[in-house]
Amino acid sequence: AKGDGRGAFRFFEPELDELMHARRNLERDMRDAIARGEFELHYQPFVDAATGEIRGFESLLRWHHPQRGLVMPGEFIPLAEENGLIVPLGEWVLRTACAEAAKWPADLRIAINLSPAQFRSKELVRVVVGALANSGVAPHRLELEVTETVIMHDSEAVFTALGQLRGLGVRIALDDFGTGYSSLSFLQRFPFDKIKIDRSFVNELSGTREEAQHLARAVVRFAVSLGKTTTGEGVETKEQRDILREEGCVETQGYYFSRPMPASGVAKMLRRAARA
Ligand code: C2E
Ligand code: CA
Ligand code: CA
Ligand code: CA
Repeated sequence: AKGDGRGAFRFFEPELDELMHARRNLERDMRDAIARGEFELHYQPFVDAATGEIRGFESLLRWHHPQRGLVMPGEFIPLAEENGLIVPLGEWVLRTACAEAAKWPADLRIAINLSPAQFRSKELVRVVVGALANSGVAPHRLELEVTETVIMHDSEAVFTALGQLRGLGVRIALDDFGTGYSSLSFLQRFPFDKIKIDRSFVNELSGTREEAQHLARAVVRFAVSLGKTTTGEGVETKEQRDILREEGCVETQGYYFSRPMPASGVAKMLRRAARA
């Protein structure tokens, strides 16, 4: 009934207002959070699918908000992309992650997530060169993870930047593979070094829905057939690991091996691995 509709509108209005208020506050807080040292990187290992040896770590951003506690990237990255703060924040991530990786054995790689807005800033190549130079990390140890959305936006500028980065020896990974609109021509045009199979497919590999399972296997096979380093992400069970291994996946990553952890946890894990 009409009356109900109006009632519902009046009911939701304050909630919406509250939501926008919370969002504005978060945005304001974010502006000072870098200077206040509230951001931290956690690191999750990716391992050789056949041997289980650590190949490197992906950096994942965390925000320790003074009032709200731990805030996950899903909550603040979209905001930071909208208000442009992702550019200085992304620069902080690159510098911090490279500085950390400089302490690891030199055969380990560091993977860093990039947002579309970082490509639009035109500063990206300079920032990457700076982070490598300051840390002394060799370019081939750095892996930049981009999703298809990065490439969909203004693809000429992105193509140029990716080409320059690869020219430096930096590796480029396609993240969340299978969730977007990759066509064959697209995969050929952008010379990725690594393809990360989205965890939704990895999850289906051991699921009970037969069709979904077949589709997931097909996605893995397709990725493997492209001849790049293929990484299965979000591996939570041995069964998933075994299937990825059987299909020829090169690397695996997920809670089955390790959750993301602070830099101190990485140091411990590496000491353990060195003794083993
Ligand atoms: P992503 O790059 O796809 O990262 C993988 C996400 O899956 C991470 O969530 C990770 O903690 C989680 N994950 C890893 N293994 C498992 C597993 O076995 N099971 C499950 N259920 N989840 C797993 P997180 O840390 O919350 O990050 C979410 C997204 O935020 C990332 O997705 C990435 O797109 C973005 N992000 C994180 N750090 C950064 C950053 O420094 N810069 C940018 N631009 N984006 C970032
Ligand atoms: Ca990623
Ligand atoms: Ca991913
Ligand atoms: Ca993702």
